[in-house]
Amino acid sequence: AEEFLLQSEKLSIVGELAAGVAHEIRNPLTTIKGFLQLYRSDNRQINELLLSELERIENITTEMLSLGKPQAIQMNTADLKDILENTVELLTPQANMNGIQFILVLAEGDFLISCEKNQIKQVFLNILKNAMEAMDKGGDIEISLKNNKDGECMVSFQDQGCGIPEEFLPRLGEPFYTLKEKGTGLGLMICHKIIKQHHGSIIYKSKIGEGTLIEITLPLLRKKTIK
Ligand code: ADP
Ligand code: MG
Repeated sequence: AEEFLLQSEKLSIVGELAAGVAHEIRNPLTTIKGFLQLYRSDNRQINELLLSELERIENITTEMLSLGKPQAIQMNTADLKDILENTVELLTPQANMNGIQFILVLAEGDFLISCEKNQIKQVFLNILKNAMEAMDKGGDIEISLKNNKDGECMVSFQDQGCGIPEEFLPRLGEPFYTLKEKGTGLGLMICHKIIKQHHGSIIYKSKIGEGTLIEITLPLLRKKTIK
């Protein structure tokens, strides 16, 4: 138990530090980007390289900033169905443009959890973004919500993307671990942190060339019976 406390304390210190550093990096970054766009080099390749490297730093700082946010965490009751529908709605235009369809399979009843709504939404967004990025030929992403064992529910995301090599599965969620040219390797780290704060779990099953299944379990709120 002590080990666990120490770990989460460390994480929150790292989060604060990351957010602080990211904040400091942002302003000079904006200045550099502005100048770069003003004084373009004659070499187009160099321009593109510099701008895409800047974009990478920007993406990293944006995600680092969100690491510091969980400070003022406020738990409220929310229905996972609403959060899922909301997230899917948000991403549908972008998905359809890339030949990707979302299939939502929601079990009967409500799925009330105690959560910081925006953080859970952030988790679903990060996972669906990864799924979409893995499917450059389009296809379906199935999102399902059902009761798991006692007092627990499961949200699963099945994509038809490139898959993840088995030896990489244990490393998912490590900061800066990415296989993408413009990736940050912070998306899943944020997901792990948020799911842990909500007393849930996250597991990955994947087959190269077939797709990836991500299963998140979360404790449901006990319904109060009014007598
Ligand atoms: P990023 O997306 O910036 O690379 P993430 O933390 O979101 O960082 O993901 C880490 C890595 O995990 C990705 O670079 C990718 O290789 C792998 N990954 C995550 N989700 C999927 C998925 N659905 N299909 C294939 N690979 C995935
Ligand atoms: Mg990602």
